[in-house]
Amino acid sequence: MAVERTQKPLTPALTEWEYAPAPEARELVSLQERYGLFIGGELVEPRSREWFPTISPSTEELLAEVAQAGPEDVDSAVTAARTAYENGWSALAAPERAKYLFRIARIIQERSRELAVLESLNGGKPIRESRDVDVPLAAAHFFYYAGWADKLEYAFPNRRPKSLGVAGQIIPWNFPLLMLAWKIAPALAAGNTVVLKPAETTPLTALLFADVCRQADLPPGVVNIVTGDGRTGAALVQHEDVEKIAFTGSTEVGKAIQRELAGTGKKLTLELGGKAANIVFDDAALDGAIEGIVNGIYFNQGHVCCAGSRLLVQESIYEATVAKLKRRLETLRLGDPLDKNTDVGAINSKLQLDKITELVESGKDEGAEIYQPPCRLPEKGYWFAPTVFTNVAQSYRIAQEEIFGPVLSVMTFRTPEEAVEKANNTPYGLSAGVWTEKGSRILWMAERLKAGVVWANTFNRFDPASPFGGYKESGFGREGGRHGLEPYLSFEGSESWGG
Ligand code: NDP
Repeated sequence: MAVERTQKPLTPALTEWEYAPAPEARELVSLQERYGLFIGGELVEPRSREWFPTISPSTEELLAEVAQAGPEDVDSAVTAARTAYENGWSALAAPERAKYLFRIARIIQERSRELAVLESLNGGKPIRESRDVDVPLAAAHFFYYAGWADKLEYAFPNRRPKSLGVAGQIIPWNFPLLMLAWKIAPALAAGNTVVLKPAETTPLTALLFADVCRQADLPPGVVNIVTGDGRTGAALVQHEDVEKIAFTGSTEVGKAIQRELAGTGKKLTLELGGKAANIVFDDAALDGAIEGIVNGIYFNQGHVCCAGSRLLVQESIYEATVAKLKRRLETLRLGDPLDKNTDVGAINSKLQLDKITELVESGKDEGAEIYQPPCRLPEKGYWFAPTVFTNVAQSYRIAQEEIFGPVLSVMTFRTPEEAVEKANNTPYGLSAGVWTEKGSRILWMAERLKAGVVWANTFNRFDPASPFGGYKESGFGREGGRHGLEPYLSFEGSESWGG
């Protein structure tokens, strides 16, 4: 018997995919008009009597005024840290120290939405990233190091680990809360007290963290936060009563700090820039690799020290890779960092935008071919479209210098040996990525790449248990894992590296 089918009218295919706005609630954050310095457990007025504005880079709107700590303020903070160290913290039973760290970790989790919104507001990064990466990883670092606090003897058997005293810590603006966690968690777990200087453009989550410390009943002076510009950082480095300096930032400032500390006996770790190679072989799963390339360079607007800013593609798949990459770039959504659909947020500051623009211009002048997907940049704030350069020579500035923005330089190679040679042709050595289905090739490459971290078939993945740090001009010392405790400890009868 014949079945009669009724023809349903076909729904016309969508030609445009407009996303409705999905803003995160900004009301989760309540801002003060002015923030003092967090010294001895309280927010205090700066003795310098100087303040500076902190803004939202996506709108240029003033968020608050923040204290500019002068040398006297840095001295007060170091004194508070020393007092806290001598009068209790260093003698506290290790399981008690761990309790504070666990408490901080839990409070970060409880206040995660507030912290994420503030991070995106002050730094310009998409809320999806601050919510799913920065804040959970910051909590994970405190949980991880809380676990080590009472097990130092097991971490370093027969070496009798001892805390150092006061650690001075200087952090950049690309991952403000996460870098704070990378610095403070191991330092406290090892039994030290700290004075931390956040970056000038992103002080607000560090000041909210001060409130987390108060909520956790952390003894006053164990954590001190001095806001300010490079002068504040320099005063902290120069302070005589600091046993250790931990710095993350530019290679230039890192070198200046190393010169300053030479011969003082202070311990130093430097986590500096990078120009990582992301290497794609012709046997790689290409769609997965494209996602890794995008995550490698456009995550956090490319403000990532280990960003995969040099793409090395095997010649036989060059055309297909570039075509797929360009198509994928067209789907990235640039705009309001607080919108949950945003992939690419604002550039952190006018200064950084100028630096990116200057380097991109140099790429065009030197003869590279630029591609930017069609996208509308907001009128207010600091923005830069995701950018790909092809036809790039090894000698071009865009292939040599750290751009620290959403700019990728694509180059080719024919053999694994050539890939290694090109990848290592940089003064930096922080990270690298390898995309191939052959496990043996991954191991072969990882052995030869001069990079602290080598990701295989992934990129920009972080874990508190995994040590992170560089070779050559990317710095020395490791953060994360058991290795991350070592720079905050002294050992009986032996000098540790990074010292
Ligand atoms: P900086 O190295 O200047 O900043 C890092 C931190 O050091 C900030 O807190 C900064 O304060 C502080 N600082 C600045 N000068 C001194 C000093 N003389 N002594 C002690 N501390 C100091 O980096 P920028 O923010 O200027 O960025 C410049 C470039 O550095 C970027 O374009 C990028 O290429 C690279 N960079 C690399 C990072 C990484 O993670 N590897 C992170 C940030 C930047 P303030 O904020 O006031 O300047």
